[in-house]
Amino acid sequence: MVGKFVRALFPGSFDPITNGHLDVINRGAKLFDELIVAVGKSPLKNQLFTPEERVEMIAELVKGLAGVSVESFEGLTVEYARQKKADVILRGLRSLTDMNYELELAMTNRSVAGIETVFVMTTEQYGFISSTLIRQVASLGGDISNMVPANVNRRLQERFKRMQERR
Ligand code: ADP
Repeated sequence: MVGKFVRALFPGSFDPITNGHLDVINRGAKLFDELIVAVGKSPLKNQLFTPEERVEMIAELVKGLAGVSVESFEGLTVEYARQKKADVILRGLRSLTDMNYELELAMTNRSVAGIETVFVMTTEQYGFISSTLIRQVASLGGDISNMVPANVNRRLQERFKRMQERR
């Protein structure tokens, strides 16, 4: 991509951000001039952290990364990409299961908005990490310290401790 300024949007739920997401962000930061991590406010998903909390955790992690910023958004991802003048959408791939879904999503986004999606493959050690799994294991008291950044681990512990106290 020599010679052209490229801004990428990395959209997702990030509930919460994991080492897998962070790996994608680090790779993306090297590939693009600017990378906007976009936290979607999906009303359909069961949420653990509010979009504001998710943005806060990500902001702490990308502080030192040149060209990387984080925001939350509502509505269609492609609409937000257009608003932010993003050239491409960045997504991460873990497995063939991801591939099927991501292929459909990328083709839909290209068809409705003409925007390209760029994929990066995760480092093998993060291939099994998902936010859903993290939420489940953490809620049952399991050790997830090697799957999420330290600030996220701390918040998860706090959140579930408080939930248990309320029970
Ligand atoms: P969404 O609800 O939009 O799928 P997620 O927060 O679950 O949002 O994921 C955002 C993006 O990060 C997706 O492209 C997903 O495939 C990717 N991703 C999630 N976990 C990992 C991981 N462990 N390694 C690489 N990519 C990942």
